[in-house]
Amino acid sequence: MKPFSYARPADVAEAVRTVATEPGAVFLGGGTNLVDHLKLGVARPELVVDVRRLTSRAVVDLEDGGLRIGAAVTNAELAADRRVRERYPVLAQALLSGATGQLRNMATTGGNPLQRTRCVYFQDVTTACNKREPGSGCTAVGGSTRNHAILGTPGVLPDPTAAETCIATHPSDMAVALAALDALVHVQGPAGERLVPFPELHRLPDDDPSRDTVLEHGELITAIDLPPLAAGARSAYRKVRDRASYAFALVSVAAVVPGDGEIRLALGGVAHKPWRARRAEEILRGAPLTEHAVRGAMEAELTAAQPQPGVDGGNGFKIPLVQRTVVATVRDLALEA
Ligand SMILES: Cc1cc2nc3c(=O)[nH]c(=O)nc-3n(C[C@H](O)[C@H](O)[C@H](O)COP(=O)(O)OP(=O)(O)OC[C@H]3O[C@@H](n4cnc5c(N)ncnc54)[C@H](O)[C@@H]3O)c2cc1C
Repeated sequence: MKPFSYARPADVAEAVRTVATEPGAVFLGGGTNLVDHLKLGVARPELVVDVRRLTSRAVVDLEDGGLRIGAAVTNAELAADRRVRERYPVLAQALLSGATGQLRNMATTGGNPLQRTRCVYFQDVTTACNKREPGSGCTAVGGSTRNHAILGTPGVLPDPTAAETCIATHPSDMAVALAALDALVHVQGPAGERLVPFPELHRLPDDDPSRDTVLEHGELITAIDLPPLAAGARSAYRKVRDRASYAFALVSVAAVVPGDGEIRLALGGVAHKPWRARRAEEILRGAPLTEHAVRGAMEAELTAAQPQPGVDGGNGFKIPLVQRTVVATVRDLALEA
């Protein structure tokens, strides 16, 4: 591991200032992702700035009926919060489907959505990876693509030598639920505070796969707000994976039925970001949620899918899997005969 300095600032302002003025500095939350990357050589910071004790570790009621989650609240605490379990079951279910009890005791609300891809080539410093080393290429193309993206990619078998190529997926379960809940992210940066709608926090690779989110260097997540849901609202999370526990999603679905004729659908395991199925949502707006309608809406959503071939058989299986998983999730929640 490359040696680095460690700092524990007195407050949020000092932490933000410290990271913003040092290009080689990073924030440390629970450390369950960052410390792995320090050991693997994926992250090679000069300075690690510990923020775990600086932000709130409370979940508080908001006047509008929503909840504010401090960035230091652990995944375990959040999943156990009675208000989250009762009013936002999609979030509690997503959290409990992730990692293990020990990891959830450490992982934080600020760190979880910013965990980095589990693409094996990103984690292997001997291979070319545009996300880890911009401009080096993408070893994943034509390689083992079972866990890779089918939506928002530069095409089927994109040029592996091009600097913009990346077919990695975003790994967080919690983030998929937060995208479907239209959560709001409080960010403190050197220029002050700003609010980022959760569905806009993560980005597609576009011309710079090294950037996972719209956050600038030195911007710290201080809290995440859950907007209120009406009393009759329903929500659920369904995760499909190779093992029943301790495995990342091949495909996952967060569904929220707020009770106003809308349905919100977010997909995990299919793109560089939690994927809001906006096209399907639009088709289903105000329509009876029959199996036929949901299946048809997902077919329309997935016309944009670009499955990747690969030495392991590729990831074309994700297209019918996503469709079936959405239908099953909505069936449990709200499907009409
Ligand atoms: C074996 C294993 C299995 C796992 N399985 C799953 C799974 O099935 N599903 C799942 O979703 N996750 C899984 N995880 C990932 C785990 O959920 C994440 O490692 C964890 O949530 C990251 O949170 P953290 O607080 O430890 O972040 P850290 O490791 O501290 O940080 C992660 C990133 O966020 C940045 N950061 C941290 N806090 C802030 C902040 N407040 N503001 C701005 N930047 C910040 C750090 O600089 C770093 O880049 C697994 C992890 C392991 C090791």
